[in-house]
Formats: sequence, C-alpha cells, structure tokens
Amino acid sequence: MKTIKLKEKKEKAVKHGHPWIFSGAIAEVNGKPGVGETVGVQAADGSLLGYAAFSPSSKIQARIWTWNTEESVDEDFFRRRIAASVQARMNLGTLDKSNNAARLIHAESDGLPGVIADLYDDVVVVQILTAGAEAWKETIGTQLLAIDGVKSVYERSDADVRKLEALPSRTGLLAGKPVSDSITILEDGLKFQVDVKSGQKTGFYLDQRLNRKQLGSMCAGKRVLNCFCYTGGFSIYAARAGASQVVSVDSSGEALSLAKQNSNLNALPGSVMEWVEQDVFTFLRGQRDRSEKYDVIVLDPPKFAPTAAQAQQAARGYKDINLLGFKLLNPGGLLFTYSCSGGISADLFQKIVAGAALDAGVSARVIGNMTQGPDHPIALNFPESAYLKGLICQLL
Ligand code: SAH
Repeated sequence: MKTIKLKEKKEKAVKHGHPWIFSGAIAEVNGKPGVGETVGVQAADGSLLGYAAFSPSSKIQARIWTWNTEESVDEDFFRRRIAASVQARMNLGTLDKSNNAARLIHAESDGLPGVIADLYDDVVVVQILTAGAEAWKETIGTQLLAIDGVKSVYERSDADVRKLEALPSRTGLLAGKPVSDSITILEDGLKFQVDVKSGQKTGFYLDQRLNRKQLGSMCAGKRVLNCFCYTGGFSIYAARAGASQVVSVDSSGEALSLAKQNSNLNALPGSVMEWVEQDVFTFLRGQRDRSEKYDVIVLDPPKFAPTAAQAQQAARGYKDINLLGFKLLNPGGLLFTYSCSGGISADLFQKIVAGAALDAGVSARVIGNMTQGPDHPIALNFPESAYLKGLICQLL
C-alpha cells in the first residue's frame, strides 16, 4: 500500500478528526502515489490512522476519506457516504412539498472532502473541488444519479479553488438526461428560477434559506433594501411578507434579470419592487448623500476574505458597508448583515459590525445570530466548515 507518514508533532489534528493534512505535516511519501490516489496515513510510529486522497499540487496534500482502517475506499464507499448524506437531509425534513431544493453533500462535513452537491428539483449540481474527488468523479456521478427522483447530474467544477489542486475548470452534464437552461425550484412555497449552467456557484444560495424566511417574518409594511440581491432571494421573501417597498441592488445584470423573472413568477406587485444594477458601495454612498432611509436592510456580500490572510483587507470592506447600512436605517430599523468569508470568524465579524455602528453614531443591539442552514452541516472537528455568519441588529 502507498502511504504517507506524518511527523510526530503533526499527528494530533488527524487523530482528533481533522481531515486536512498539510504538506508540512508529512515526513515521508512512500510508493509514489498518483494524483488523487488513495494512500494509507501512518502516524510517526508506523501505525495506520486511516486513508486519504493524495493531492501533490495542493498545500493540503491529503484529505482523509476515512479514519476506519477496516473500510476500503471503493465504489461502495461512495454509495454509502452519498446515501447517508441524503438520508440525513430526509431526517431533517429539509425536503417537503414546499421545498424541493437542498444541499445534499457538504464536503468534509459529510465525510466527502471536495464534493459539494445541491439538489434543484430533479437535478443535482455537483462541484468537484479536489484531486481526490476528481479521481472518483464518475462514481460520484453514478451514485448521485441513483438517488430517488434524480434525473440529471450536472457538473459545475468551475470554482477558483480547483486551481490550487492543479485541476482544470469543467462544466457539463456528468450523468443522466440533459438539463434545461432554467430550473424552477420551490423554496418555502416560493418559486425561483435557477440557472444551473451559468449562475453563480451551483446556481442558488441555498445556505441562506432559513435566514430569508426569518427576514420575511419581520418585513410586513416595511421599506426594505436588499444589497447584493443576486436572483432576488431576500427580496422575494420580503415582498411576499407585505413589505411596502423593496429596493434590490446587485452589480450583475444577469442576476437581476433572473430576479425580476422570479418576482413575476411569484405574482408579486411590480410597483413594490425596484431593481438597481450598481456597485453596492457606490449605491450606499449615493443613498446616504440623499438621506434615504429604510426600515430593514440586508447586506449579503460575496466572500471578501476566502482565507485568514485576506482578513484585514476584507474587514475594511465589511466595515464600510455596515457603517453605511447603519446610517441608512430608520430608528428601530433592522440590519441583516452577513459574512461568508472563511477568513473572518464570527467573533471578528461582530467586532467589525460593532465598530461600524460606533462610527455611524448609532446605538444598536444584536437580536439574532444566524448561520448556514442545517443542510450545510458543520463538522465539530472541522471548524472551517462554519463559513456563514450573520447578525440581526436592531437600532434603538
Ligand atoms: N443574498 C443572495 C446571495 C448574494 S451572493 C441570495 O440570497 O441569493 C453575492 C452577490 O453580490 C452576487 O449576486 C454578486 O453579483 C453581487 N456582487 C458582488 N460584488 C458586488 C458589488 N461590489 N456590488 C454589487 N453587487 C455585487
């Protein structure tokens, strides 16, 4: 068996259930494993700790598939893991007659490093992000197609992180029937069109589902501003809840055109919805200069800091938008503010938001903490999987 042997001082993380093995933790690579090949992981004393996928180009040179030394990494392994992930969602009641979209596989947190799979009605959209997952891609595609009710598996392996694994970008059908350009999903009874072929990520931000629902519960009769609206998620919930006006801003024309279609699809009154194609930073400054005020503001920007190294730069971006957001709120108003940056901890995010309120000259308190939905689980031994944090702040 091809193996990697860990340095004695670097064994602890793996022994404690963390799936990543950095190049600096490896003392020896034995048997010349190929890209994505399964290797035995040995402690410094030679004892076997589990099996991992080898990825020579990445700083994360191996990712653990299993700590069970009796378990083989083969087709049946992927069948079991995928079935268990789907079953876990079924047990949560995530999919029902009002919801036909959910994350089915959340990578490391489901024991499948490098594999993201989102269900949109009868289509699974999969992202294959690591050399190990790439080596098993066909098997993964076959097993995803075997899920009850799934007719197609579409690949969106066009994420930047693939470059770190020296993998080329690839999109297209992986298994099953051809996929149409637009799929209509149901989320909390609302209809959304998802462009799985060229939308962002896998097409929709499923991680915000419960947070959108919570926002809806606080929007009746309110003037709402949704910044970074993408295809209108938060806006549509706000309008359904009876918001008096919903202004939605995004820099992507394609996202906005889908957002408008989504609004029509749900028969929401056009007079309530206003769509603005603009940079949010510029838009917010303009609103401040015109002394515009809102009752509810959503700030859900893209990842400003993918890693901790970019945290400082990103902190400035978060501070700027939150400061402007606070300034645009009416007394008693609500700010729903998020960060999906892995490099910004929940603690740091709250500090940034607190600094923004201080500089905006407002008093605000936190009335809600938010995170990713339960179909995006957080492995206890893998804190990196907790990426989405959000605060609901209420102005006094
Ligand atoms: N809240 C959305 C998801 C937001 S994703 C939902 O629930 O579906 C982040 C969005 O920010 C993307 O649509 C992207 O086009 C947009 N974006 C990125 N940078 C921007 C900027 N500087 N100004 C405006 N929009 C931006």
